[in-house]
Amino acid sequence: MPLVAEELNSLKIAQQYFENAANLLHLDEGMIEFLRRPKRQLIVSVPVKLDDGSYRVFEGYRVHHNMARGPAKGGVRYHPTVNLDEVTALAAAMTWKCAVIGLPFGGGKGGVACDPTALSLRELEGLTRRFTTEISILLGPDSDIPAPDLYTNPQIMSWMMDTYSMHRGYTVNGVVTGKPLAIGGSEGRLEATGRGLLYIIREAVKHLGLSMEGLKVAVQGFGNVGAVTARLLWEEGCLIIAVSDVKGGITNAKGLDLKAVLAHSSATGSVVGFPGAESISNQELLELPCDLLVPAALGNQIRMDNADRIGAQIIVEAANGPTTNGADEILNDRGIFLVPDILANAGGVTVSYFEWVQDRDAFFWSESEVNSRLERIMLRAYKEVESTSQKYGVPLRTAAYIAGVSRVAEATRLRGIYP
Ligand code: NAD
Repeated sequence: MPLVAEELNSLKIAQQYFENAANLLHLDEGMIEFLRRPKRQLIVSVPVKLDDGSYRVFEGYRVHHNMARGPAKGGVRYHPTVNLDEVTALAAAMTWKCAVIGLPFGGGKGGVACDPTALSLRELEGLTRRFTTEISILLGPDSDIPAPDLYTNPQIMSWMMDTYSMHRGYTVNGVVTGKPLAIGGSEGRLEATGRGLLYIIREAVKHLGLSMEGLKVAVQGFGNVGAVTARLLWEEGCLIIAVSDVKGGITNAKGLDLKAVLAHSSATGSVVGFPGAESISNQELLELPCDLLVPAALGNQIRMDNADRIGAQIIVEAANGPTTNGADEILNDRGIFLVPDILANAGGVTVSYFEWVQDRDAFFWSESEVNSRLERIMLRAYKEVESTSQKYGVPLRTAAYIAGVSRVAEATRLRGIYP
């Protein structure tokens, strides 16, 4: 256990990762200051009429971190712990992520501090429509394009798109990505983050001279990202030895039948209670001896107080910000091979980019076109980060930040500071 309390503020953690890369790039102080700060932060009140006739006001946020390379892109999160610092950190991560991947977007993020599991469908629709209206001064296909994140999904994106379109008086499907296919969504978007992770995991496994067949994997979080990743890895021949969700985890050293776990989870609302597996806590899952750990739930799961007990030799970050700065150093000292969030989980924003392009062209691609373009882009980014890592003699996380930050700095230099 550390003697001093560890820094768990997600904004401070993100800024430390950024500053590390900015110093290695020898950026001048003014540029560092400009890139560290968000461009704008909007805080809104979101009143909702509840089913019992009473009113409740939730707090919502939309942050644009940096738009030097294009419109702000980033998800909307519904969770009780959402706050301005967290949304700002996540918006900054989107800036670097889009730049690492080479997408023509800047970084944005939004969220509402609420417990969506305690709201009815009608209340959730009311919350979404009012939140969209409140942040609509920022939204637009050329300015700010939201997408799903924690506890938001294609239905919520549909309401956001519809609300924005009603205010305009015509359909603007390119204002939001992660929509259902019937209203301008893209083939492959639902699976995109998990599929991108699969492509990256294959590279990491190859790099370490291991094989996908029989690779022992633990996945924390069984939502859009975690469940899809677990299924794709299982189909690839990996042994999924543990999965978990907010209610707890399950493990079987011989490997879980993922198809059956998915059926159990959709029937009961949780992986917990799956027959033929032992129960474990989320904490125990992180510490299981295995080849690969995929954190795919919340931030700050791997900290200084558990980093030396992580049982995997590879960590591929599916969640945003699952590892603190202190834990990152410990994992690095232990020789654990870590692929950072801003590279590993970029499959989602990449197919969101494809969706936006298709909406603008009103011309839609097949699933195989989407997946092969996604694979090409993810592998190109992985190779670039790998060679940056060798060039600077730094871990992949620092290399990914160097790649992202240098591109945004270059765009800023070329554009100059207005006026
Ligand atoms: P989701 O809402 O679909 O699923 C979240 C999962 O995490 C659920 O299974 C939930 O039960 C579980 N969970 C919640 N609290 C937990 C806790 N305390 N311990 C363990 N598990 C817990 O969300 P998602 O879209 O799958 O997002 C998961 C993570 O991936 C987030 O960090 C998100 O920012 C990141 N991410 C998502 C996307 C995307 O396209 N959706 C893209 C990139 C990154």
